[in-house]
Amino acid sequence: MPTYRDRGVVLRTRTLRDADRHYIIYTETHGKIVVLAKGSRRGKSKMSPHLALFGVVDLMIAKGRVIDRLAGASLAKPYRSVITSLSKTALSQVFLHAVDALVKRELPDDRVFLLIEEFLHAIDSAPEPEQGSRGLAFDAAAARLLDLLGFALELRECVRCRTQLVPEGNSINFMLGGVECNNCRDQFSGEVSAEAIKAMRYFRTEPIASSASLRIPHSACREIIFLTDLLLTTHLEGRFHALNYLKAVS
Ligand SMILES: [Zn+2]
Repeated sequence: MPTYRDRGVVLRTRTLRDADRHYIIYTETHGKIVVLAKGSRRGKSKMSPHLALFGVVDLMIAKGRVIDRLAGASLAKPYRSVITSLSKTALSQVFLHAVDALVKRELPDDRVFLLIEEFLHAIDSAPEPEQGSRGLAFDAAAARLLDLLGFALELRECVRCRTQLVPEGNSINFMLGGVECNNCRDQFSGEVSAEAIKAMRYFRTEPIASSASLRIPHSACREIIFLTDLLLTTHLEGRFHALNYLKAVS
């Protein structure tokens, strides 16, 4: 059976009958793949400990007629502080689920792989999030992901009249995918602050670690979190249940 090697991060697992599992993995060169691991739930598998953790895994995959099989796995880069912190685990889990939900198979994009790696590294090396706050790393990574996939919000000009935005009086129109200026916006839609728009622009171009340590008013932080969650939910069919999990632990 022909085999190939790749590096990847496990996005999600699906348990099947007879202790088999499907691993949904984002790989560096093959994009999102689904592989079958035989009997890895019985605890006899030498590979499952490497795949159960948040980390970059070296993979050996055997090409199959129906589905590819996992032939070997070893943990190349563990993110230890992600595993030991409940908040960091939750943030990472939700981001990986968002990648899985938004990214299609057979469309390899190494920028997505690099983004996942950068996000996990940023979360891993950051201090423990403060109680009641998830920080901005997740929101920055989500903004970059949506940008890569072509779902980014328009933040420079008004989505209706196309004039350059001024800092005050703007609101977000999700149907049109961006910011509306004071002249165009519905009087009932809530204003989005200049600080929040500025930070969201920053997220697009700067490293996640820098975005995570941005010092912005608490109210702007709350606006950004609200907008990220709404944006992710809008782009996914139905509700994005993983976000509720994040709310529960942060
Ligand atoms: Zn306008």
